[in-house]
Amino acid sequence: MMNWPVMNLSGGPVEMTSRTLRDMARPMMYHYDPAFIEFFDHTCQLLQQVYRTKYDVVIMQSEAVLGLEAAAACLISPGDKVLNLVSGVYGKFYQDFIEKYGGVTIEVAVPYNEAVDPDDVRRALRDNPGIKFLSVVHSETPSGTVNPVKEIGAIAKEFGVITIVDTVSGLAGEVLSPEEWGMDVAIAGPQKCLGGPPGLSLMAISPAAWQAMENRPAPVRGTFLSILDWKTTWLEQRRFPYTPSVSDVYGLESVLTQALEEGIEQVAARHATIARACRAGVKALGLELWPAREEIAAPAVTAIKLPPGLVDAHLRRHIRQRYGIMISGGYGELLGQLFRLGHMGQAAHPTYLAAQLAILERSLADLGYPVQWGAGVGAAMAALEGWGD
Ligand SMILES: *Cc1c(COP(=O)(O)O)cnc(C)c1O
Repeated sequence: MMNWPVMNLSGGPVEMTSRTLRDMARPMMYHYDPAFIEFFDHTCQLLQQVYRTKYDVVIMQSEAVLGLEAAAACLISPGDKVLNLVSGVYGKFYQDFIEKYGGVTIEVAVPYNEAVDPDDVRRALRDNPGIKFLSVVHSETPSGTVNPVKEIGAIAKEFGVITIVDTVSGLAGEVLSPEEWGMDVAIAGPQKCLGGPPGLSLMAISPAAWQAMENRPAPVRGTFLSILDWKTTWLEQRRFPYTPSVSDVYGLESVLTQALEEGIEQVAARHATIARACRAGVKALGLELWPAREEIAAPAVTAIKLPPGLVDAHLRRHIRQRYGIMISGGYGELLGQLFRLGHMGQAAHPTYLAAQLAILERSLADLGYPVQWGAGVGAAMAALEGWGD
């Protein structure tokens, strides 16, 4: 069998803390045990605190893609105009869901190393009367970029447009709130900046979004994709539409508790600080960042242009096989153009950063790319001046 990695610094799922691992090993409960009902309710309250929202939250029992599709399935009726903002692989991917449910896509797209300009969103909404929904990715993990969702959300609200926001790798990486950011359906995952297990969709739903789901001629009910089923069962009657993933819920409760103990502002600041130091290290190694501007670089991952002469798959295989660190490459259209250093969850820490920059340096040298020993780690550590003060 292949040896297991020493460190998982991928684009997610990421490493979990020993406390999370321990908490996931709690005894299996029957989901209608009163203790589990109380536990699930408590977990929902923690999620509301992490989302900093008073909106209803729904924990759908499958990976975040289910939540993304559920939003499309429950909201979009045939013929509805949807403004889809595309700055990367996940943004483009959403078009498939829009059209699967009969929506008509209007696209605002930028190159995959850029972020969407709010002025372009305003123009598109003005030029295309009748747009009902807007979909946008907050943190484009494959590109290592973020979109200005707060500004975009405010514009959508001016036009009375309901927003669907993929913040799978955004939640806990930045301080946000669905109310303040104009997010009507927000979808996050536990396995990115929260450092939890994959397998759940963490959703916040605005009253306007509920209304839009309920006021359709045939509201979507009685399917795994129905968010309304969670309203009529869990939210209204403390019942489940089907058996929840008990152990994943244990993991979620654990990571939410840990994030709140640290403080959401602090968790986000830690990601921002490590990401900034990582960029300093990458640049000092003579490598180029993938994002066109540092202001749009993501707190979750740092995407790096593949330097000439290096093959992404070789570099990552070398780092993994020789030094045991798992990092991510490009995804979809970006495959072969970039590689990514991950710093989500507990990996947003100086020790992980030093290790991965040092191993990157060693591996670049192994593969014949010239390095100045210690340049990357040195610049990153210098950028961490004041850490923990
Ligand atoms: C990871 C990720 C997803 C997919 O989440 P899954 O839990 O794998 O379904 C979607 N969007 C973004 C931006 C992501 O980073």
